[in-house]
Amino acid sequence: MKTTSSRAYRCFSTLLLVISAAVLLSSCAREETPVVVIGTGGIGGNYQLIGNAIARVTNKNLRSNGFQISDEPSEGSVSNINAVVAGQIQFGIAQADHQYEAVQGIAAWQEPGAQSSLRSVLSLYPEAVTLIAGANAGIETMEDLRGRRVDIGMTGSGTRQNALDALEAADIDWQQDIQAQQVNLEERLAMLMHSELDAFFYTVGHPNTDIKFATYSVRGARFIPLVNINEILENNPFYSETLIPADLYERAYNAEDIETVGVKATLVTSSDVSDEVVYAITKSVFEQLEEIAEYRPVMRNVSQQSMLEGLTAPVHPGAMKYFAELGLELPAPAE
Ligand code: GLU
Repeated sequence: MKTTSSRAYRCFSTLLLVISAAVLLSSCAREETPVVVIGTGGIGGNYQLIGNAIARVTNKNLRSNGFQISDEPSEGSVSNINAVVAGQIQFGIAQADHQYEAVQGIAAWQEPGAQSSLRSVLSLYPEAVTLIAGANAGIETMEDLRGRRVDIGMTGSGTRQNALDALEAADIDWQQDIQAQQVNLEERLAMLMHSELDAFFYTVGHPNTDIKFATYSVRGARFIPLVNINEILENNPFYSETLIPADLYERAYNAEDIETVGVKATLVTSSDVSDEVVYAITKSVFEQLEEIAEYRPVMRNVSQQSMLEGLTAPVHPGAMKYFAELGLELPAPAE
């Protein structure tokens, strides 16, 4: 009796030892997998959806990559670039125009100066500077924005500078002629739907769920075309003329496609991030582009060659290595 119970006890303690060793080993293994972070955007935007898709396709190769990638929300382009160059995150999604401004030390980077460690990885999809108003707000043209409550985007967003450029081209002083707001993305849509806001700017790829919600709301919504587009194009080489297809939003109060300017959404990193990590992410996105596009309609017209356009910061060597393997060449830089 005594022998049996002591044997059972020994068996039990051996088992316990094995289990704890296994738990310890697995938690050590987990701790050892470095995590790289990609900064995305706010709820309701495409940056979050795409950042999550990039993390998902890259994490499929977790074992061979030797690192894990995790996507994190943010205010958008400007805060992503700042967090990347500060080394707080390793990757960020950012508009090509803001990449250019950061490298040049202009616009939001006038004060801190040129961000020499910023690197381009790849280009994603086109975004349009979008101005949307409540259908019954009495706003049909940019002129009608005068005196109204207009959200121009948070300071960390990419939208803000685009809103300022569009307003300036329309000869609207954002500090005097409108009631400029900067509402966080979580509240902005609800405020428009509840008539607490008259219009908002959003530089975003289409289709976009927040805008779909606005058009399907009881209040309804209307896109407002930008004006003096030539002036906007002249002032910044990274804008291009574009149209928001009205048929993407069947409930919007717009019969015609909406005239505006566009920029490219891109992936950026820092010169401090290793070639191996950048190479692995570039390869995953290129190889699984079709799968990403299947879930993310905004990526549908993206091709391997288009992913090399709009890279306005020096391209990271890890990405260059992969492009070279594919025999792809960077397009000549914009004048
Ligand atoms: N382009 C926007 C920005 O940089 C974000 C758009 C999105 O989240 O899809 O602020």
